[in-house]
Amino acid sequence: MVESRGQALQRRRAVYRRRRAWAAVIAVVLLALLVFGLYAGLKTWGLLPSGQDAEESEAAELSGSNSDDDLASPAGSSAAAAEPEPEPTPEPEPEPERASDPSWDPDSIHVLVNRQNPFEPVDYAPTDLVVPDVPHYGPEAAMSLRQEPAAALEELIATGRQEGMALGLVSGYRSFDYQFQIYWARHAEVGTEATDLYMSRPGYSEHQTGLAADVISIENPDCMLGECFADTPEGQWVAENAHRFGFIIRYLEDMEHITGYPYEPWHLRYVGVETATEVFELGLTLEKYWEQPAAPDYDDAEPASP
Ligand SMILES: [Zn+2]
Repeated sequence: MVESRGQALQRRRAVYRRRRAWAAVIAVVLLALLVFGLYAGLKTWGLLPSGQDAEESEAAELSGSNSDDDLASPAGSSAAAAEPEPEPTPEPEPEPERASDPSWDPDSIHVLVNRQNPFEPVDYAPTDLVVPDVPHYGPEAAMSLRQEPAAALEELIATGRQEGMALGLVSGYRSFDYQFQIYWARHAEVGTEATDLYMSRPGYSEHQTGLAADVISIENPDCMLGECFADTPEGQWVAENAHRFGFIIRYLEDMEHITGYPYEPWHLRYVGVETATEVFELGLTLEKYWEQPAAPDYDDAEPASP
């Protein structure tokens, strides 16, 4: 069917009228929203006095500076009831406290010594060294420990003995001079890289603290200062029990990128029972436990020449 010109014109006008009507409705709705939004915003920002605000300011005027005024209390409390205090933001849970923090005092049982933390002074020597009453194998010059770890090692080895373990000591305190001698003697044979692998440079050895002890399985001398110590009954017993006496396995397996040393299941470090127990239970290196930077390397590629 063909529309006449007049009909088409009428139809278009009707369409325009409907559109105008809708536009008007939409404009009214938008205006209403705008007014409401503006009002809410002003009120939120405190630019419009609300009924409650007025009440509060009256109460404040009434109470003046005397907060014990009888008039002030009811007004104050009604205002408080009408507008409750905002919920206090909950305190963040406090971090659980560590048993200890690292120390740089060489006399502390929590001193941190690694390839990034040499002794200060470099030739530090403890003053309370004693030779523990335990089976020991090796040069007498390297057989002492500080009093506290010496007593702890005696207890550890005696307890182990009661449980069928034959443990002995092969290295305790090493003086700066002694470390110097053994480091450079080995260095002359194999060079820096191979020497650094297992042996600390003088001034960087945990043995200089008097808190470190290398232990052996007496029945398995082939595993002395070797990874296979971990597979001996003594090695397994030490791994499970050393913390009860305040010692940790200081150089854990696959942690060389943190400690700077390959796995040394025989090297015990005394840190006290509380810290040792936490470190053991968390399975952490001492660096991680104390939240200290990893110490894989020395700052200097070559040791200071003798
Ligand atoms: Zn050692």
